[in-house]
Amino acid sequence: MSKIPVLADEDEPRAIDTHAHQPTSEFLHDAGGEMMQDAAERFGTDLHTWDYDEMVEEYHEHGIGKAVLLGWDAETNTGNPPVPNEYVAEVRDDYPDFFVGFGSVDPLKDDCVEEARRCVEDLGLSGFKFQQIAQGFDPSDEAHAELFSTIEDLGVPVVFHGGNSTLGACSPGGRGLKIKYGNPMLIDDVAAEHPDLQILIAHPAFPWEREQLAICQQKGNVYMDLSGWLPKYIDEQVLHYAATVLKDKVMFGTDYPMIRPETWLSSFEEHTNFSEEIQRKLLWENAEAFLGL
Ligand SMILES: [Zn+2]
Repeated sequence: MSKIPVLADEDEPRAIDTHAHQPTSEFLHDAGGEMMQDAAERFGTDLHTWDYDEMVEEYHEHGIGKAVLLGWDAETNTGNPPVPNEYVAEVRDDYPDFFVGFGSVDPLKDDCVEEARRCVEDLGLSGFKFQQIAQGFDPSDEAHAELFSTIEDLGVPVVFHGGNSTLGACSPGGRGLKIKYGNPMLIDDVAAEHPDLQILIAHPAFPWEREQLAICQQKGNVYMDLSGWLPKYIDEQVLHYAATVLKDKVMFGTDYPMIRPETWLSSFEEHTNFSEEIQRKLLWENAEAFLGL
């Protein structure tokens, strides 16, 4: 398979992956540590690395023209070093037409509000990624309200993790990670209190997909993506909503390098039956609107 038909019709690679991590040691080994080895086993991948030339070429081959590259800072909760925001900005600068850089701040660090400002004002990053399970925090806790108000004022979107996590999966105690922080109902509070904050809940939020659909329906500022799951495993109701009530709100994402573009797109082609109009919305139009491209 090279390109799915709706992408082959375009002159330029057009799809946008809203959820990509680094295929390098910075993410897979340093920030990921043992919990990432557990995740790789669940995904049936290993933790070998490759460079950004290869990554961009792979995406272009499959008709994908942009990817949101995510930072990572769960240092307080995991003890692992972050994928630094400077690093995300540097990679973005090396491939400015391809990568949209999202920073990460650790909400448990005292300087997180300052760091959020620096990410946007000095590094020119385009948004933020939170992984509440790895970062060990409840986004609805008032302790984090100042951080979200600051990001709301900065006028950039955020990605929250949604649902269970493969990080630490099958290890004793899940390596201490608590999946309750992945419940999207906690994000409903954030969305209600910060109506100008644009929020993307990453992944079908298993086992809380219905809560996630309800939030996306009720909150004008909440969206979701289909990353982290091959379409053949995604809940039928999620796919139904993606083609109907939420057709302007659901986006394509992989969770690179755990899921590669070819694998996701061939499962999409084989297991869904969306019209071309819906495919265009899902694969790039909704992301263009959300990211302001
Ligand atoms: Zn991810």
